[in-house]
Amino acid sequence: MYDFANILFAGPCNRACPWCIGRLLPDRVNVSNLNEYPLRGLEGFVETVNRWRIPQVTLTGTVSDPQLYAHEARLLELLRERLHPCARLALHTNGVLALRRIDIFNRYDRACISFPSFNPATYARLTGSTHVPDLAAILRRATIPVKVSAVINEHNAGEVDEFVARCHEAGVRRLVFRTLYGDERRWSILPAYPVVKWFKGNAVLDYHGMEVTRWDFDRAECRSINLFADGTLGTSYLITRTPELRPAG
Ligand code: SF4
Repeated sequence: MYDFANILFAGPCNRACPWCIGRLLPDRVNVSNLNEYPLRGLEGFVETVNRWRIPQVTLTGTVSDPQLYAHEARLLELLRERLHPCARLALHTNGVLALRRIDIFNRYDRACISFPSFNPATYARLTGSTHVPDLAAILRRATIPVKVSAVINEHNAGEVDEFVARCHEAGVRRLVFRTLYGDERRWSILPAYPVVKWFKGNAVLDYHGMEVTRWDFDRAECRSINLFADGTLGTSYLITRTPELRPAG
């Protein structure tokens, strides 16, 4: 019934992306849970994941990065103990702390790094910082599969060819371009490369052995549950449309 279950972190972030979707959520779900253990609502979340045998649990954020969570390793341990044996643990991160916390990074089953550009000036326009994480070094030290997810808009659309080539060079095997929530514009991504398959309504291309997906959130056919920082358990894949966050009445 559900494709995955997300644990969402909130609090101060180490990047300041102008498009950060969590800022569209009510303030009450963005209270910091970065130092909280156990997390609010975790019991009900674990019970729901086990009841529906949800295959993947992802640590991600609304307005913060999950690697900023003070109890990351302890939470992973608890999830390994308490979740059904087929549950896989995934990390969705901006990659800023990946090298510093590589030991914990490698305890997940897989990771997805949100990484929009190798160019410091472009990276700054998209994340508010000129410090670009060393993607090649992260990939060298990762012992788990790592996917790269790049938000695409007017700031980096002109760099697509160079970006794809550098990702390939760095050893990326799966790359996803995703448009921003509500952005109707469609960018030209590797037009010369054929679509080799479709994944949940999204086109997948082959670039010299690297899988490149053009992900369109609005067309995605996914189902998820989401544990917000205030303990709310949401049931909408698009977090801004979570029925549980609508004002009563
Ligand atoms: S890294 Fe993620 S959580 Fe942090 S500001 Fe950017 S989009 Fe928001």
